[in-house]
Amino acid sequence: MNIKIEKLVKQFAKLPRVGNRAATRIVIDLLQDKTGRAENLANTLLDVSKSVHPCPNCGVLTDCEICEYCSDPARKNGQLCIVRDLSDVLVLEKSGVFHGCYHVLGGNLSGVSGITPDDLNIANIKDRIQNENISEIIFALPNTVEGKTTQQYIIASIGDTNISFSELASGVPLGGDLDYIDDGTLTLAFGGRKKL
Ligand SMILES: [Zn+2]
Repeated sequence: MNIKIEKLVKQFAKLPRVGNRAATRIVIDLLQDKTGRAENLANTLLDVSKSVHPCPNCGVLTDCEICEYCSDPARKNGQLCIVRDLSDVLVLEKSGVFHGCYHVLGGNLSGVSGITPDDLNIANIKDRIQNENISEIIFALPNTVEGKTTQQYIIASIGDTNISFSELASGVPLGGDLDYIDDGTLTLAFGGRKKL
């Protein structure tokens, strides 16, 4: 393969769930296209990546000062759902199961990968509880060792409060990402959430 094309394939192959074969197909498809899709993709990617930033309050990516969820008064219902990343927010929004505010950690604690609390968006959760009158925290983190460790760390760091903590009920596949779950299962897992 041409060395430049190979370089491009390697970039695409690094994307989540895109293996080398799919990356090769995408690149060939884009390069053979005569309608300017490659250029449009490059320009849009550059434009969006330059204009979005994590919301300073919750970590959701936005191109506004404060994200659409944090600036919506109807969402100030005392519920805060803690998720690993933006894709989890999008899945929950699509399912329509949750109407409160989100907090995006940007990962999970991991001894193996060397991810510490300082690497994650954890520090301001306590401030949010106070400022936004949060009464319930719902953990929608992966059902993995890392997810559980992160959950326990956050509960311990919040300390003794009157907050009600809960986690999604069983039905969420072990180690599975939220976006692998169908809306029905997610609704059940959310509705039947377990108190901690
Ligand atoms: Zn926000």
